Amino acid sequence: MQASGMLDRTRAFVKIQDGCDNRCSYCIIPKARGHVRSKPLKDIERELDSLASHGYNEVVLSGINLPFYGRDLGLGLINAVELSCEIMPRVRLSSLEPELLTREDVERLAKLDTFCPQFHLSLQSGCDRTLNRMRRRYNTDMYREVVKNIREFFPNGGLTTDVIVGFPGETDEDFEESCRFIEEMGFAKVHVFPYSRRTGTDAAEMPDQIPNAVKTARAAKMAERAEAVRQKFLEDQVGRTEEVLIESEIKDGMMQGYTKNYTPVVIPAVKSLLCTIQEVVITGVSGDVCTGRIKNPPVGYDPMGMFD
Ligand code: SF4
Repeated sequence: MQASGMLDRTRAFVKIQDGCDNRCSYCIIPKARGHVRSKPLKDIERELDSLASHGYNEVVLSGINLPFYGRDLGLGLINAVELSCEIMPRVRLSSLEPELLTREDVERLAKLDTFCPQFHLSLQSGCDRTLNRMRRRYNTDMYREVVKNIREFFPNGGLTTDVIVGFPGETDEDFEESCRFIEEMGFAKVHVFPYSRRTGTDAAEMPDQIPNAVKTARAAKMAERAEAVRQKFLEDQVGRTEEVLIESEIKDGMMQGYTKNYTPVVIPAVKSLLCTIQEVVITGVSGDVCTGRIKNPPVGYDPMGMFD
């Protein structure tokens, strides 16, 4: 069967929204994709029923600017999430614009057992001067407030983001401020992008474009600092027991899956557990992933990592 998009047999992507009514100065999407359009709830329901009947354990609801979902239908994103959580064992959201995630939304999400608390909150810069030139609709104080709400209702929620470095006019001080902000937020993962000039956008015509060598150096520096923050997040998971959706076999008799907050966990492999959700005790960190063991192993489970 064909959903909006499928990553593998365990997780499907369903696009529920298109278009964007924001006008970020570096982005061509509003010109290319037009105004907000949302998929009606009954269509989402039909699509998810089909995925569930085909054995999918997880859906990622996606869109160009997902929190705009429902504006054209008199609905909100929370309505689509609540519906999805009634159908699917796990529901995850793709990238979110922070200014649209209200405290009430977060509170309602926390009441949904099958909602996965991984919030990819688009940041783009941790410096207010740069955010202003980017024409983003929030500043760092507003972003902090959203994160505070998330942490209140999801103390072990995973927070991930995207950041652009070397935006036109970004000074060394602006860049440093941005780095400090990502450290303060404690992101589980930061995707760092050097600014890329897009023809047809206002930012492409801005003065003080940053040389490529500076952009590259800043990207490397921020990625290094973000990695230290990620390690802290992974270490904080050790000792916890989490539900892991086991997704794939990897090398050396190991399998990998993800917790609800999207922590990657590697466990000794047992083929019969592929595509199932298991309780896993997280025992350590190994590079960019956590390691763990099945809490209640099935008969025949081989802790040395042999497939059954
Ligand atoms: S960056 Fe995102 S929010 Fe901004 S205009 Fe593009 S799609 Fe819209």
